[in-house]
Amino acid sequence: KKAKVEESSSSSSDSSWAEGMPYLVFAEMCAKVEALTGRLEITGIVRDLMKEVISKRPEDLVALLYLLSKEIAPAFENVELGIGEALLMKAIGQACGKDAKQVKAEAAAKGDLGLAAEGAREKQRTLAFGRKPKALVARQVLEDLRAVAKISGSRSQDAKIGKMTKLLTAASPLEARYLVRALGGKMRIHLGTQTVLVALAHAVKPPGMSPDAAEEVVKSCYSEHPVLDALAACVDRPLKEWPARCSLSVGVPVKPMCAKAEKQVTAVLKRFSAQAFTCEHKYDGERLQAHVDNGRVKLFSRNCADTTKKWPDVVSYLREAGPASFILDAEVVAISKDNTFAPFQVLSTRAREAIASDVKVPVVVMAFDLLYLNGKSLLQLAHRERRDLLRTNLRFSDHLRLATGVDVDSKRDDDDDDGRSAIIQEAMEEAIKAKVEGLMVKALDQTYEPSKRSLNWLKLKKDYLDAFMPDSFDLVVVGAYGGKGKRAGTFGSYLLACYDPADGIFQTVCKVATGFSEKELVDLDQILRPRILPARPRHVVAGDSLQHDVLWLDPAVLFEVRAADLSLSSTHKGALDKLHPGRGIGLRFPRFERLRDDKDVDQATTATQVLDAYLEQDAVKNNNNNNDDDD
Ligand code: ATP
Repeated sequence: KKAKVEESSSSSSDSSWAEGMPYLVFAEMCAKVEALTGRLEITGIVRDLMKEVISKRPEDLVALLYLLSKEIAPAFENVELGIGEALLMKAIGQACGKDAKQVKAEAAAKGDLGLAAEGAREKQRTLAFGRKPKALVARQVLEDLRAVAKISGSRSQDAKIGKMTKLLTAASPLEARYLVRALGGKMRIHLGTQTVLVALAHAVKPPGMSPDAAEEVVKSCYSEHPVLDALAACVDRPLKEWPARCSLSVGVPVKPMCAKAEKQVTAVLKRFSAQAFTCEHKYDGERLQAHVDNGRVKLFSRNCADTTKKWPDVVSYLREAGPASFILDAEVVAISKDNTFAPFQVLSTRAREAIASDVKVPVVVMAFDLLYLNGKSLLQLAHRERRDLLRTNLRFSDHLRLATGVDVDSKRDDDDDDGRSAIIQEAMEEAIKAKVEGLMVKALDQTYEPSKRSLNWLKLKKDYLDAFMPDSFDLVVVGAYGGKGKRAGTFGSYLLACYDPADGIFQTVCKVATGFSEKELVDLDQILRPRILPARPRHVVAGDSLQHDVLWLDPAVLFEVRAADLSLSSTHKGALDKLHPGRGIGLRFPRFERLRDDKDVDQATTATQVLDAYLEQDAVKNNNNNNDDDD
């Protein structure tokens, strides 16, 4: 491989740039990169070529960016290559005077059609005396690749083969290798758009600016306006001017903000510590970015492809939505006859193209963010401000709805996390009832971060939580706390304990505030209020912080609860001292399942069972302890 690179290099050293950047220069760079795996080294090679192009033929930078990024046009133009092997073999055969069978055999022997084409051209070259085709120019190659991709219609196969044959006939052996791979959509080099952006940042970085800062600018320009032509057009300008030239605009999809998956409510609370957040329903459909400009509607997928033809019904809903221009971030979800959400499987049966009068799978658009409104980008506004603008500016209907959500205030110094966790759990229960996938928990005071898998958006799927609730626990009610707000007038939460038969004591393991219906709260109040004691019984062991405002209850009634998981705790006292002096085990994020009036206290979950359940947890077994959220 190395020998080949050197041979090719010498052939390109006298290539002229007069007509534009030679495609051979690109092919030689690919050959170098193909032999490498180190990211830094690869980025350096790409950066150097970009610098050369910027100094010699800046107008060709755009072609280089496309060829490098393995795309031939912005995603929303829906122009894709990926020519099938059979067609490519025919073209190679025609260009190199072989039949497709021979090409196939060589491809099988070499393990790659690109190498087969290279070998075939090599043989031809040694046979052709003196006739040298005109050198391929990168810009023209890109045009030809686009032209091949756009050929459609009845005789499109022949036309494609004709165009590819012409291109290959003009190619040197090394060029043929990469042309065939580009046409087939498999370049076999370790280069993706992210590396291209980094290399570009390094190539245009002004002296004194750190590479990281330059990368940040270039990446954020591309996320907001994913069009390589726009980046290339900025190349003669200082980097600080790029963001204004590559910013959000109607008609060009922005790369959507993504969420990080969380498995536990605790992790969500930890992440958002003091911040306010909202828990929105996570709908099980398809991401939809809608751009509306004076009645013209364009719809884009999560990957920025243009999907307008797929959703003619959605186009009409959005045309009637109100503002002159806006960009909406939403989920499109299939809807059943009874107006409940249908699962994604139903949506996935929808055709790629449809006419409005013949839509087989009806949908609703669940709007959750507004990114642009009447000429202004909203990306830099806080989530709550964007949402306010969404609520007040769009006309919602049966087909265009606002995502359901509940807000959780920022935490005050004296708050514990119980209240916040209870809201998340209730929201999750609502989500389960509404047949959605789970929750999207979003920081309310943060900006929109295009293309980032941000920690400011967390997805909490109901299946994750289920996995963390293996067996339920039957726990003894030892205390109660007065309810607030909607729960005023009954107990709002209860203090629960496991039982240690050896010592005859009850050790608290959790405070439960979720899972109760309104009726259950009333019924339980009636059962338990008569059991209030004047003071803590000596055989109930509880941490100090639990003893404020508690009304101690005679330990006689059992609740069945489920929990997210178990952790070591200084507040709770399950299996006290068994693992750690002074510490017990507590249940995290417990949820009331039902009253166990068929069991007595001596049939309650024991301290030993709690200890075993703790030790059974994968996190503990694997030694990455899920400890002490309350320490
Ligand atoms: P990701 O989009 O995070 O790469 P993914 O495509 O596998 O992952 P999910 O893991 O299901 O998708 O979660 C994120 C997706 O959830 C979003 O891209 C969006 O399509 C969908 N979604 C549903 N409801 C909401 C909502 N309220 N807010 C944001 N996204 C939502």
